[in-house]
Amino acid sequence: MALRIEDKVQFVKGVGPVRAELFRRLDVETVRDLLYLFPRDYEEPTDVCPIIQLQDGQKQTVVAQCLEVRIAQWRHVEAAFADDSGSVKVVWFNAPYLRNQLHPGRTYRLTGRTRLYRRHLQMQHPSFREIGEGDEDAGDASIQATYPATEGLQSRSIARAVQAALDQCLGELPELFTPATLKRLAMPSVRAAVRELHRPTSMKAVGRARRRMAFEEFFLMELAVALRRRGLKRFQDAPRLAVTPAIDAHIRRRFPFALTAAQNRAITDIVADIGASTPMARLVQGDVGSGKTVVALYGILAAVANECQAAIMTPTEILTEQHLRSIERFLADSRVRWLLLSGSLSAAERKKALARIRDGDVDIVVGTQALIQQDVTFKRLGFVVVDEQHKFGVLQRAESRWRNAESDQPLRPHYLVMTATPIPRTLALTVFGDLDISVIDELPPGRRPVRTAWVRPSGRPAMYEHIRQDIRRGRQAYVVCPLVEESDKQDMKAATEEARRLQKDVFAEFRVALLHGRMDADEKQRIMADFRSGHTHVLVSTIVIEVGIDVENATAMVIEHAERFGLAQLHQLRGRIGRGPHESTCYLVAQPTTEFAERRIGVMTETNDGFRIAEEDLKLRGPGEFFGTRQHGLPELRVGNLVEDYDLLQLARQEASDLVRQDADLARPEHRFIRDALLATYGRKMELIDVG
Ligand code: ADP
Ligand code: MG
Repeated sequence: MALRIEDKVQFVKGVGPVRAELFRRLDVETVRDLLYLFPRDYEEPTDVCPIIQLQDGQKQTVVAQCLEVRIAQWRHVEAAFADDSGSVKVVWFNAPYLRNQLHPGRTYRLTGRTRLYRRHLQMQHPSFREIGEGDEDAGDASIQATYPATEGLQSRSIARAVQAALDQCLGELPELFTPATLKRLAMPSVRAAVRELHRPTSMKAVGRARRRMAFEEFFLMELAVALRRRGLKRFQDAPRLAVTPAIDAHIRRRFPFALTAAQNRAITDIVADIGASTPMARLVQGDVGSGKTVVALYGILAAVANECQAAIMTPTEILTEQHLRSIERFLADSRVRWLLLSGSLSAAERKKALARIRDGDVDIVVGTQALIQQDVTFKRLGFVVVDEQHKFGVLQRAESRWRNAESDQPLRPHYLVMTATPIPRTLALTVFGDLDISVIDELPPGRRPVRTAWVRPSGRPAMYEHIRQDIRRGRQAYVVCPLVEESDKQDMKAATEEARRLQKDVFAEFRVALLHGRMDADEKQRIMADFRSGHTHVLVSTIVIEVGIDVENATAMVIEHAERFGLAQLHQLRGRIGRGPHESTCYLVAQPTTEFAERRIGVMTETNDGFRIAEEDLKLRGPGEFFGTRQHGLPELRVGNLVEDYDLLQLARQEASDLVRQDADLARPEHRFIRDALLATYGRKMELIDVG
């Protein structure tokens, strides 16, 4: 039987079930996926140069013998290579599996950028290929492609499988765009582009092919976004929530402070949205501590004033607790009724809670994703806050799950999504184009900016002394330990040891407590309560405190091995302090071993501005794994780069919105392949039911 592009990759010549399992790790299931698994790098034959000629900042190729390999700190692989002219250190960040692909004594061809680091040249994260005996390709004349290898699957095996798939199936790849469109955009056909990427003829042609495939990827993403927006806006059955001057005054009286201008602008946006029967779908973006929760509470109270229920959905139980406390703080002496729907309720408690929600005996329901489980039915849900959960598609997944008891009268709630991850505005408009956006770009008055210090390990004693003085003045401190291994068991161990060390050797006169992800909800709650009450002086934790903890009295934060964190994460963590009237300091204990890590620490000491940090983050997003798109909630892209290809992204957005205007159901025959590709890529993630 001939191989088809929809066949499983295991049927490609030379793959088989064992390798197919490895391919799955690269998200390759079918022959089509394999054809879309593009090389991560190309080596031009003219590049080969002797080691002695390596230059700072240049991308070059050497052919050299491996002298030694070791796993260094933080899972970096470090190796030494030599040729007749000299030797060079080579590092791969956070890629321990590469160790088994490098063997001292053998010869490799390495292509990568060399950097001057601490006065020595080192080659960073090069692609590489072993040159076997009798292998003539050390100096062969063609461009070589390198694939994103994974443990047990080398670039070469991937190349062989891809070539087999190309031979048999390239002609089957469907073309999404008409010849006229391709001509207008000056882009090659999909088959020409895919062939060029796997069988490069010139780097110029590779560049054109890459743009074409990046465009296709962006186009599908923007199409999904445009259709979602249209889908959300099509409904007309959301409750109109009127905010009269009396209601407004009533709500504002709940807050013991005047709202900032930025908060008021966001509220004006929300009030306009919820007054209409088209459901609101709005993203409120604002730095940690900018007062998003208060803005959300305003919307919630507006719903309650209109006899609707409201829900707050959070990603973690700790964050749920946090919201409950805000609610208690502002609404304790009001008639508003709320409850927590958590995973740790007993069966009887849960049943009671569900009955109250269904009967309308409760106004605000707070919970994790448990809120969208089958058995939760609302009497009349009007307003939903989705916190810190701007992950692509989450809102959409949730949307179809809310249930109202009065089923003859469908009610679609208004949505407010809150995020503290500042995404540069241009990008937000394109990637989250299905949501309207309000930005809170101002902190409440009286906030003192957090001081940030870069501490080398040798500076620890002085740092501890500062913190000791803070604690004597009545303040408290966080100590954050990073992920050590992928297993949270290892993290827990590292944090546990750190807590013990601090209690015994550093802060013997104070109370040190430990918080980590493996504790059960009750224990976490107890530890947080002790910290909040001031009983505990120092809280050591793994990164579980990243979101939502609000203890004004905590004025110091130590981040151990800060070089291991991404910028967005560091910024989030730092936002936990500087929340009260006292001067706060964030200590980044770091010994960066790469230029990128050094820049990240530098940026953190220079600015507190989340938007600037986000811009820097996107610029710095260097060698892959450290800075995945995951932390931004952006969809994962294989070819396109949201920053470097921003012009293409805009072009794709334009084309996608034109298409939606012409043929929103993608029903025309010439759009059939677009529709198939859209469903294959985003159908499940976004429940594009109307299209399917
Ligand atoms: P975010 O959710 O954006 O991180 P919060 O809404 O939790 O921020 O607000 C942070 C802190 O600032 C809270 O203690 C909150 O009560 C307080 N706050 C919010 N808005 C104001 C304001 N306009 N004036 C003074 N304090 C405010
Ligand atoms: Mg908050």
